Amino acid sequence: MTKVKFIPGIYKTRATGHNGSLPMEVELSEKRIEAIRIDTSGESKGITNPVFERIPKFIIEGQTLNVDTISGATVTSKGILEGVAQAIQKAGVNPKLLQQRDKYPVNQKEYPSEKQVDVLVIGSGGAGLSAAISALDEHAKVLIIEKFPSLGGNTTRTGGQMNAANPSWQKQFKSFPGEKKNLERIYNMKEKDIPYDYLPTFKALKKELNIYFEDIENGKDYLFDSENLFCIQTLLGGIRTNLDGKKTQGNYELVSNLAHEAVHTIQWLKEKGVSFSEDHVTEPVGGSWRRAIEPNPVGGYGFIHPLQNYFISHGGEIFTECRAKELLMKNGKITGVKAEFYNGSPITINVKKGVVMATGGFSANYEMIKKYDNYWGNLPENIPTTNSPAMTGDGIKMGLAVNADVVDMEFAQLMPSADPITGNIFSGIDCPPSDFVFVNTEGRRFVNEYGTRDELCQAIFDQGGLIYNISDKQIASTRFNSTDEQLENDIKNKACFRANTIRDLAEQINIDPDILEETIKNYNHYVEEGNDPEFNKSSFNYKVEVPPFYATPRSPATHHTMGGLKINVNAQVLNKDGNIINGLFAAGEVAGGIHAGNRLGGNALIDIFTYGKIAGKNAVKNNQE
Ligand code: ADP
Repeated sequence: MTKVKFIPGIYKTRATGHNGSLPMEVELSEKRIEAIRIDTSGESKGITNPVFERIPKFIIEGQTLNVDTISGATVTSKGILEGVAQAIQKAGVNPKLLQQRDKYPVNQKEYPSEKQVDVLVIGSGGAGLSAAISALDEHAKVLIIEKFPSLGGNTTRTGGQMNAANPSWQKQFKSFPGEKKNLERIYNMKEKDIPYDYLPTFKALKKELNIYFEDIENGKDYLFDSENLFCIQTLLGGIRTNLDGKKTQGNYELVSNLAHEAVHTIQWLKEKGVSFSEDHVTEPVGGSWRRAIEPNPVGGYGFIHPLQNYFISHGGEIFTECRAKELLMKNGKITGVKAEFYNGSPITINVKKGVVMATGGFSANYEMIKKYDNYWGNLPENIPTTNSPAMTGDGIKMGLAVNADVVDMEFAQLMPSADPITGNIFSGIDCPPSDFVFVNTEGRRFVNEYGTRDELCQAIFDQGGLIYNISDKQIASTRFNSTDEQLENDIKNKACFRANTIRDLAEQINIDPDILEETIKNYNHYVEEGNDPEFNKSSFNYKVEVPPFYATPRSPATHHTMGGLKINVNAQVLNKDGNIINGLFAAGEVAGGIHAGNRLGGNALIDIFTYGKIAGKNAVKNNQE
């Protein structure tokens, strides 16, 4: 090995990746690269991109810059190598000397080239893990393959709020001002405006509401909910018309089954080791109703961690860094998958029973979103994403190659309240929508903040794409998923602004203080009245009155791709003739048809766990002999 002599020290450089650059420290002793620390605190817990772990490990173990880049993460791999090269240069050594050293690792691990299992699950997010566990519980031999080194996919990035109508639990909470009005609006809908197959559910809901309204009259104040309300709100939230005038709505069987199964899914998750905070009920943005329960610890990790433990401790097998590339089909049946390990080594996995596709959506694939989009029409090219870079639509492409049908591909859901640069949903103050106060860059409100996600996004685009969420100390206490330390960091990085008066806050964000003051005064008055004559906001919680005040810059980001493989209620994938594809199941964001054109906030998690559970169980039942 060529000898080198560094000036020992800790050198600060940056690793350039897809989403900008990350601060990095390289520690050098006289002869060795001792440590490489990349600050990935901007990334979400549990989803760190493999390159940040593997490239530094190889550089240090091999004391070389001759390290293979990771397929699918070439830009970031090169960025890290370049960052270390710069540090080495600063330490007085020509990096070429390390680039010319032997390649590391030399003896790469031998991977199997063939494998046989009962059920193969592709993807290890919430849907994949639930499918794998439910198949395992049916005594099947189950393998998960995951293209990243860590499990959990996009699910680890979520806030963790999960919807289920669980009235016996929700009853203990008081109603919010405006919520009754919300119910009255649904109650007063004309039957002709309700799709035919949903009518019995709608009628049953009206009966329940009659009793609730009577209870309210009699002074019994509580938060109402029911399976029927959940079903109808999921339907109403999802109805959308594309740019060609074609309307879509959630498939009744899939939606009503989800509404019915939801409480059972919570119970099932508890049995698998997930714990929940049951002392409060909440609602994420665009949720339509307060029916979300949170895991403890809060966030997607609170689900993934226990599920992963359950799967492994019950004998499930996982290949990480193994990417499925192609479904194998023989005589109309799915017989397995061709996949590839990160180093290019191929593997064929044959299945006796079935394959569950749980590869998530395609929000991190702008070209694919753009190709199918027939709803927004004009998505900005620099639109950020809230998603992990893994979400590239692989499962949909593999499905299409075996003639699977797809549904609602033209609808991509955007998250209205994301950081304009990083797409982070939890920067600054991200609170429940009853507490949102959105102002445009003139300091004026412009929308019912309680609207659905795409109503909010369109309204934000109409304002030029950048808005602020204004909040105060009390509202800050309701925020999701952000520690005090993260908030301080955001303030330092101008991802959030803080001031002791509304006037000072306005000045920090270049807004006329008189206008912002007036906006907040009016808003506070509407909260008192439980009525917003300007924009009809229909659920309020706190006024904006206790300093310090905050302004969080927000803009839309790609978040959830509504479309996906067409499934039936057993999570079997259907082909273009409407027949099932024997041996192919799909669950989670890769599947379409439930949320139609717009998914309610809090419905993704309940969907992935419910249909994941269904897919795994049915895959085992599937006998391909
Ligand atoms: P869901 O919410 O539907 O469970 P997630 O986004 O949480 O979906 O997880 C999907 C997982 O699938 C991610 O961990 C992602 O890395 C993985 N994945 C995507 N494509 C492939 C593929 N071709 N092979 C293996 N794993 C994949």
